[in-house]
Amino acid sequence: MKLYTAVALGLIGGLLLGLVAAVSGSPLLIGIAEGIEPLGTAFVNLLKMVVIPLVAAVIFVGVGSLGDLRQLGRIGIITLFFFAATAVVSVLLGMGIMRLVLPLASEAAARAVEAAPAEAPPLPGIVEFLLSLIPSNPFQVAAEGALLPLIVFTILVAAAAGALPSEQRDQLLSLANSVAAALIKLVHWILWAAPVGVFALAAPITARAGWAMLQSLAAFILAVIAGLVVFIVIVYLPAVRLLGRMPSWHFLKGSASPLLIALTTASSAATLPAMLESAEAELRLSRPVTSFVIPLGAAIGRGGTALFQGAGVVFLAWLYGVPIPASAVGGAVLATFVVSFTVAGIPAGGVVSLAPALVTVGIPLDGLGVLLGVDRIPDMARTATNVGGVLAAGVVVDRLAVRPRPSARSHDSAAEPSAHS
Ligand code: ASP
Repeated sequence: MKLYTAVALGLIGGLLLGLVAAVSGSPLLIGIAEGIEPLGTAFVNLLKMVVIPLVAAVIFVGVGSLGDLRQLGRIGIITLFFFAATAVVSVLLGMGIMRLVLPLASEAAARAVEAAPAEAPPLPGIVEFLLSLIPSNPFQVAAEGALLPLIVFTILVAAAAGALPSEQRDQLLSLANSVAAALIKLVHWILWAAPVGVFALAAPITARAGWAMLQSLAAFILAVIAGLVVFIVIVYLPAVRLLGRMPSWHFLKGSASPLLIALTTASSAATLPAMLESAEAELRLSRPVTSFVIPLGAAIGRGGTALFQGAGVVFLAWLYGVPIPASAVGGAVLATFVVSFTVAGIPAGGVVSLAPALVTVGIPLDGLGVLLGVDRIPDMARTATNVGGVLAAGVVVDRLAVRPRPSARSHDSAAEPSAHS
């Protein structure tokens, strides 16, 4: 049995167990669904355990062996452009679909407002954000799991290593290469536990879901999920097909394991090891892509989150009766777009960082509590979309910046040997 089939079965089994437990209210089933949760936590911890050393090692190897830093620049620019362009479409789509669905939102949603606790963490301004990209202590950012400053530091050290005399450079590179290979092997082992891990994550989440709350915000949740599906179908799949020259089914099959893991962990950061594994072994992307685009994407690729946030702004404006005049739409879109890039790849990261966009539109920050109350399901869907976007970016950048082949009419990169093999 293929790994992704086993993971899918684990997910379906977990959802069924949780659903039956919640609907029947059976203490035994609820006990089982919640009792297996530590297995799920163990799986997520195993994935998180390798993220930081893996990012450092693969980026070091990738940048250090590039030789030509201009290629890194080209890859970086195309990657950033891909994420920026798709995020704009995503915000607009989220806002548009939410507006269409608003008439279906019931008055019951208004009642959820009272139940919601107010909570608005302070967010850094743009200058603070840029400064935070330069880590004053690289070990501290690594310990905090902050991917972006760690990537900046690793790229600089790797560029410096590339400029050393060849003997020193080769020693460093071969060490980093061996470390990366060992970590990828470890990821491989951890992924064999994915079917059980995913089962143990899905069951307690479904068993605990607050049905009343979910029903009251059903219109919002449905709008987000419908929007994400439309977004994948009209943006990511055509990009993969037309720019990346890879058939959609090949892409979806090759991405299945990370997509399912993203769905259950609701964390892009925890899914990074699985993304790297699939990018290399299934999608067969080249080394500059697996070592640079995928980690960068895990840090800033938030296409799904941008859609959720666009929908969230429109929904909360409706809920609180705050009008968004035509003149303020641009500001709302811009604020949501900018914010989406700062979202940490952790569960609910996209809700807590929505504060600046809400402030821009004049929506009470209590709205964050409303969204947090039902966030798990939209979070699962948008995290899977984020991860799909990162892998789509990998396929597109691989074709445009690394292995351009304008005359190729069909996907032939699968026949090429992986750079890691
Ligand atoms: N959970 C999402 C992720 O890790 C971030 C978000 O909350 O939107 O990609």
